[in-house]
Amino acid sequence: MTRMFRSMSKSGMAAALHWSGANAFIGSSAGRVQPFVLGFHSVVPDPRAHAGRAIPANLISIGMLERQLDWIGQRYRFITLDELGAQIESGAPFSRPAAAVTFDDGYAGVYHHALPLLKRKGIPAGMFVVTESIGRTQLQIQDKLYLLLSHVVPALRHSESRFLELFDGKRIRLRQGIRPGSMHDIGGLMRQLFTTLPQQTLLRVVAALETVSHIEDKEYPDLHAMDWEMVSALDRSGMIIGSHTQTHALLTIEKPDRVVNQLAGSARTLELKLGKPVSHFAYPDGRFNPEVVSAVARAGYRWAYTTCTHRDPLHPSLTIPRTLLWEDACLDIFRRFSSNLMSCHASGVISWLTSCKQSHDSEVSAAPLSSAQPAPDASSADSNGILRRSMFS
Ligand SMILES: [Zn+2]
Ligand SMILES: [Zn+2]
Repeated sequence: MTRMFRSMSKSGMAAALHWSGANAFIGSSAGRVQPFVLGFHSVVPDPRAHAGRAIPANLISIGMLERQLDWIGQRYRFITLDELGAQIESGAPFSRPAAAVTFDDGYAGVYHHALPLLKRKGIPAGMFVVTESIGRTQLQIQDKLYLLLSHVVPALRHSESRFLELFDGKRIRLRQGIRPGSMHDIGGLMRQLFTTLPQQTLLRVVAALETVSHIEDKEYPDLHAMDWEMVSALDRSGMIIGSHTQTHALLTIEKPDRVVNQLAGSARTLELKLGKPVSHFAYPDGRFNPEVVSAVARAGYRWAYTTCTHRDPLHPSLTIPRTLLWEDACLDIFRRFSSNLMSCHASGVISWLTSCKQSHDSEVSAAPLSSAQPAPDASSADSNGILRRSMFS
């Protein structure tokens, strides 16, 4: 499917759902108001300047961030993650539509570009940082891998056999080989490697790719993480700092002792640096299973955030759904901001259409999704219902 066709189908379907009222129907769950928890990554002045230089779905411009936050602010009350967590723990229903804002990965652009906007608008937010990346100019592994693949795969003329030869004798085993078409889909190839290989193996993949092409980390300043002064400034300004592990390891594919270290080590570092307990955690890539959720609980976190609507019924506060947004998330075919698409994100309809493919390794993921009230739409900003399709209870 071409990009344009995808965009047409997405915006067309959004409009159809919106105007038919199906949006509200899909998003309804016994009339309960559900919170809308947003997840962003890096904020940059102009994402077009980063074409081919960053994972596209991780970018949002300052202008689009403001546009999306304004849309939400007209329909929801922004609350802090502590307020959100306390309300979920209490089991009491949300009496008014509420939204909470989060940023993952701790990019410096969030400090430079999002913080001034959030302060000006009085919007609280949670920042999930990768502790070992703070204050370093080395790129985080997901960005390094994406950039290297973007250079190496074309250099190998998209040859799968030449690509796989790079891994010979390097203790890198791709369980299912390379998925068909991946040599012409850098994003898909990156996701396959990133979501199936433990981080120690990924580091060997990076080293193998670097035998073909080298990435100068310092040439990508917009992908650098914040330093500790920036993290402290965010903390002092009232933003909540949470953990996103030590090294952005996907916990579902790491060994148990690594999981413990990633969870406890990052919390310990943040508590030492900030002088306060760390209660919030975001799963890298939204990956969780019952063992990981239990480890998060044992590490002392009270609230943890995913990127889909699946919940762990034993730990609902540790599987809080989020909706990820980025520059193109709400653009129609003409690349105009679409209130209908935004409404479909808010209602959970987009999540429903693109359902989470993760198994979460158990009955945890099987819980069916229900949802909340009619979505607030562009013409009835006060009509309040929230359509979050989730299982908050
Ligand atoms: Zn992340
Ligand atoms: Zn899921």
